[in-house]
Amino acid sequence: MSTSSQQPIVQVRGLVKAFGEHVVLDGIDFDIQTSQVVVVIGPSGSGKSTLLRCCNGLEVPQRGTVDICGRRLMDHSRMMPEAQLNKLREEVGMVFQSFNLFSHISVLENITLGPRKLRGLSRAQAEQEARELLGKVGLAHKAEAMPASLSGGQKQRVAIARALAMKPRVMLFDEPTSALDPELVGEVLQVMKLLASEGMTMMVVTHEMGFAQEVADVVVVMDGGGIIEQGPPEQIFGAPTQPRTREFLQAVL
Ligand code: ADP
Ligand code: MG
Repeated sequence: MSTSSQQPIVQVRGLVKAFGEHVVLDGIDFDIQTSQVVVVIGPSGSGKSTLLRCCNGLEVPQRGTVDICGRRLMDHSRMMPEAQLNKLREEVGMVFQSFNLFSHISVLENITLGPRKLRGLSRAQAEQEARELLGKVGLAHKAEAMPASLSGGQKQRVAIARALAMKPRVMLFDEPTSALDPELVGEVLQVMKLLASEGMTMMVVTHEMGFAQEVADVVVVMDGGGIIEQGPPEQIFGAPTQPRTREFLQAVL
């Protein structure tokens, strides 16, 4: 596949983020091309979540640039105007470890809220799209349920459907299965595999190495605020070049 002439969906250059004296991202460069699945791995505290949060403007870096679909999110720590930023955020779906569903409204309302408010859809149109998405994540029968009545795996699948309802160009997942009981991990990974197979562009922080091996186009290994190695899963898992990658993989595999 020739992607060199294509504009990347996400382009990060020279990204530096510090909290006080603590440099958490130390000059990150990377691209995500259309329909690529990039899996980010690395030890706790290596900066994975911060990198993801910089990619949708939840964190403001001190230096560097993030471009989403060719539009500059921030430059020299100056964010784009709030209205534009919110528009751009609609194109970047985010799924967190902790689901973050609104607990006082139904599953259907959780999914239709964004499209009605931000995409200007009518209730009927938003509900129709939401029911289709619920079907896709295997929860068509839970439209009227309240979040509290769902299992963790079901909540996370609703969170994915809610993100998809905004018709994002790229989906960012931050350890989407880490809070789940082991028997519920598979149903969430299954939905993510389906999205990948449909060509969704995805960046996934996860400790699920089986998922990485099976689904990733590129595995990015972070350590100490930098990308120490990246490549196709066969290379990263089969023949890592960096000692710290080998140490990390020995600890998690
Ligand atoms: P990872 O997701 O790889 O575990 P994080 O990106 O969450 O790593 O964190 C990287 C480092 O940045 C950690 O040392 C963490 O304590 C620190 N950090 C993250 N967010 C903040 C914050 N809001 N304030 C201060 N330090 C932070
Ligand atoms: Mg994290």
